[in-house]
Amino acid sequence: MSGARIIDGKALAAKLRERVAAQVAALAETVRPGLAVVLVGEDPASAVYVRNKNRETQASGMASFEHKLPADTPEAELLALVERLNRDPAVHGILVQLPLPDGIDSAKVLRAIDPAKDVDGFHPENVGALWTGAPALAPCTPRGCMTMLAEVHPEGLVGKRAVVVGRSNIVGKPMAALLLAQHCTVTLAHSRTQDLPGVCRSADILVAAVGRARMIEGDWVQPGATVIDVGINRIPADGGKTRLVGDVDFAGASEVAGAITPVPGGVGPMTIACLLANTVTAACRLAGVAEPEV
Ligand code: NDP
Repeated sequence: MSGARIIDGKALAAKLRERVAAQVAALAETVRPGLAVVLVGEDPASAVYVRNKNRETQASGMASFEHKLPADTPEAELLALVERLNRDPAVHGILVQLPLPDGIDSAKVLRAIDPAKDVDGFHPENVGALWTGAPALAPCTPRGCMTMLAEVHPEGLVGKRAVVVGRSNIVGKPMAALLLAQHCTVTLAHSRTQDLPGVCRSADILVAAVGRARMIEGDWVQPGATVIDVGINRIPADGGKTRLVGDVDFAGASEVAGAITPVPGGVGPMTIACLLANTVTAACRLAGVAEPEV
């Protein structure tokens, strides 16, 4: 039986969505936040994400603009759409769903987004702002992880030893920046890290963002540590079906951890809720008003 507190991402995401909806209602006389999502091609997983994003955007009372382009869309056409969205006063957040089809330079497209509307937080200007402590739009998944950590550690994270496994631009690196900003002592581990189990065992806060099913074993976890499992991995299940598991061996880790996120139902649901929160932040900054305290 699990000894750890299970961090309920669904419940926390619902709370965050409620807060966003209340903020949108409070802004009614000032600005109606609008999110534009651009999907290029037919990637089925991306299509599901985009559908969910649109549904949740509308449910929060924001304006939702969906742009679906065929897989063979020329890069110039996508850049022209981004430019139009940059100029559109009804759009405060722009998200170009990744991955983009071959032949389109993702970095170029992400750089074309107005940093003030970059609700994914991937534009180099926002990346720089995040690392230098300037006001930034932080990437949604790491922002969601920080919200979960705040729930478990209301006393704050000052001085805690944090280990992030995975150094991608969308999860690992921004997660490290956010933990550092909260005064953690941060180690960013990756595929060339020596003695990864030992490094993980040093963590008060262990964040796994690797993409390898159950790679992090129970005895890599320090007793009492808080474990945030970002990984989403599909593995074979009974009856020819598949199921989702994280990067952490949940059964083993939950015996020793103080708190742990499940997969599914942990970090995943937080990501879209944080996208909505980032859109409200962007809309308020663009309108020159303070974010409503609700
Ligand atoms: P990437 O593939 O971009 O990065 C994976 C990282 O893990 C790399 O830095 C890599 O190291 C490191 N790594 C790979 N193998 C090992 C190993 N054996 N030991 C130590 N480190 C290793 O993945 P993402 O960051 O995009 O995603 C990570 C996971 O999070 C995936 O499962 C993804 O599906 C999930 N995810 C979940 C989201 C959510 O909403 N919950 C959102 C985004 C991602 P190196 O750099 O050395 O190659």
